[in-house]
Amino acid sequence: MKTCGKIVILTGAGVSAESGLGTFRDTDGLWANTRIEEVATPQAFARDPAKVHAFYNMRRRAAAAARPNAAHFALARLQEHWPAPVILITQNVDGLHAAAGGAALQMHGALSGALCAECGHRWSAPVEMTPRDLCPRCGAAATRPDIVWFGEMPLHMAEIEAHLGDCMLFVAIGTSGAVYPAAGFGAGVARRGIETLEINAAATDVSAIFDRHIIGRASQVVPAWVAQLLDRDPA
Ligand code: NAD
Ligand code: ZN
Repeated sequence: MKTCGKIVILTGAGVSAESGLGTFRDTDGLWANTRIEEVATPQAFARDPAKVHAFYNMRRRAAAAARPNAAHFALARLQEHWPAPVILITQNVDGLHAAAGGAALQMHGALSGALCAECGHRWSAPVEMTPRDLCPRCGAAATRPDIVWFGEMPLHMAEIEAHLGDCMLFVAIGTSGAVYPAAGFGAGVARRGIETLEINAAATDVSAIFDRHIIGRASQVVPAWVAQLLDRDPA
């Protein structure tokens, strides 16, 4: 296939699963029985900031130890070699697309970031954050992870909407289609007649809206798909 035009790719936890970062529905260990509402909402942070920091400190340590897998590298290769823009939008907060050399819009924030809830200042997060950390700009003890919580507006939405509006192909990789607004991107572009492809280890709640499906593990099927697009053997 040799069509050339902008490609928009949305990734979710499934693309990082084979880097050892569990997807959200199969989080194991210490936090297995923690309901997401207890740690990933502004209300949870107001109620128990130490608990929320502990959860994200654990995830920040895990992300720092993780390495990108073949899917992350293949998507970076596609961004480098495709003759038109390849816009990578990720719901993941682990930074693995960048670690593989890709450029991704991190719509749900980043574990590597700290954000002042008081003045909006952003800076690099220390490995361990605590409720006592002070904002380097305004001095408030209101330091939170730079993560978009349930009930908050995802980042980069205007830019994302613009890309969704003028792409040739929309691809969703390793995302369950359970969390909006990202879950609605595929239906939105499909309504405008843009081609859609879902790549996932299994069918999802939103599979029916996609024109084409590739079922398989991201580290295997994504490099093969990219190689086919670039018309060469998988590296
Ligand atoms: P998800 O866990 O809901 O879904 C992961 C998807 O990846 C599933 O459809 C699964 O079939 C697929 N998958 C698993 N392994 C795969 C592999 N090796 N190859 C290909 N596909 C594979 O993750 P999501 O869709 O990214 O969730 C959406 C967003 O919801 C998250 O990014 C996050 O922002 C938010 N969320 C956060 C938390 C949290 O902070 N703990 C919990 C739940 C949801
Ligand atoms: Zn501040």
